[in-house]
Amino acid sequence: MTIEERVPLAPLTTFGVGGEARFFAAAKTVDEVQEALVFASARKIPVFILGGGSNILVSDEGFEGLVLSVRLSDITTEEAGDRTHVSVGAGVVWDDFVQWSIAHRFAGLECLSGVPGTVGGAVIGNLGAYGAQTSDTLVRVESIDTHHTESGIRVFEKEACDFSYHDSIFGKTSGRYAVVRAIFALSTDPTSQLSYRDNRFDLTRLTHTLGHAPSQQEIREAILDMREEKGSIIMPGRRSYKCAGSFFHMPFVSPEQYAQVVARARALDAVREEQLQPWAWEQPDGSYKLAPGFLLEYTEFKKGYTRGSVGISPKHTLVIINLAGATACDIANLARDMQRAVSDLFGITLEREVEYVGCVERSNQ
Ligand SMILES: Cc1cc2nc3c(=O)[nH]c(=O)nc-3n(C[C@H](O)[C@H](O)[C@H](O)COP(=O)(O)OP(=O)(O)OC[C@H]3O[C@@H](n4cnc5c(N)ncnc54)[C@H](O)[C@@H]3O)c2cc1C
Repeated sequence: MTIEERVPLAPLTTFGVGGEARFFAAAKTVDEVQEALVFASARKIPVFILGGGSNILVSDEGFEGLVLSVRLSDITTEEAGDRTHVSVGAGVVWDDFVQWSIAHRFAGLECLSGVPGTVGGAVIGNLGAYGAQTSDTLVRVESIDTHHTESGIRVFEKEACDFSYHDSIFGKTSGRYAVVRAIFALSTDPTSQLSYRDNRFDLTRLTHTLGHAPSQQEIREAILDMREEKGSIIMPGRRSYKCAGSFFHMPFVSPEQYAQVVARARALDAVREEQLQPWAWEQPDGSYKLAPGFLLEYTEFKKGYTRGSVGISPKHTLVIINLAGATACDIANLARDMQRAVSDLFGITLEREVEYVGCVERSNQ
């Protein structure tokens, strides 16, 4: 395997910004993953594992270590009772896997159509959308422990993956495990695919709209249409923005904090607060999940906001976009100002969902 030097990272990310990788390896096999890790370990340089680059912001100065792009791309199947176990290389493009599953009449992934990135990235962040998440159908993950490269494949059964909202053991120990393969249990029984509803999208009405029970392909098309309407897609032939999806997580707050936010929002603009409902959801533990877009609506950072080469998607308040020629610094500065505005107004901290690679924060003071 060739280890390249000074490889531009911007074209390998959906933001399209960032500098070079000091070293770069594209590993197509487990042996090549191990070889690349041994290379980095011998030089005592940091490693960043790259998937589809759809949830990261690479520093303008690049990454002074090895960027390891995991490119295992095989899909194999094995019967397992009433399900089929599908083993998927971590480098397979997630949406290609979704399309593969539909073409093979497997159910369960349609609602996750159109999300950019790889299968590896989907496991790390427990990719979720429209009522479904990666962990729903995943049974096992095969990985290489970057601290013990020589140990071979380390298997994590689903229970050991510690999946939660947009997170997993692999996200919590970021960089420790290179995911090489994920095994899913898929069935051809298409039940319970149409239960998702939010204030803009009601999948439960699809049967009524179409006049018949939707096929998996029709569910996929409905999801892709909705994603395009929300500016949450990067796909040829559909309106796309250079972005990394939602920049911030949804905050969870205590009942007291929730009451304070309600009072503050109503004092600022009661009509707007009513128009934007629902913007908070009570959780089983009594906490509240808030829509960050609601909080941002009270600041200058609304949909369509622009500042030089960066802006906020005209379709989605949480999506920061590279309008043309933005730097990582431009994007990080806007993100920081959005966080400060929400914190100053509501006392709520917006946590970043997008991961910074290299020294993005150094030039972001
Ligand atoms: C337009 C748009 C819409 C989006 N919509 C959604 C959505 O609806 N739901 C959602 O959950 N996300 C969404 N995202 C975010 C993003 O697509 C997902 O988080 C995706 O799963 C990231 O995968 P990736 O391969 O691009 O990972 P990357 O961005 O390359 O990396 C993300 C993290 O995963 C790690 N990683 C990647 N591959 C591996 C591997 N093989 N082994 C170990 N670590 C690895 C990286 O080191 C990094 O820490 C969206 C993004 C965009 C641009």
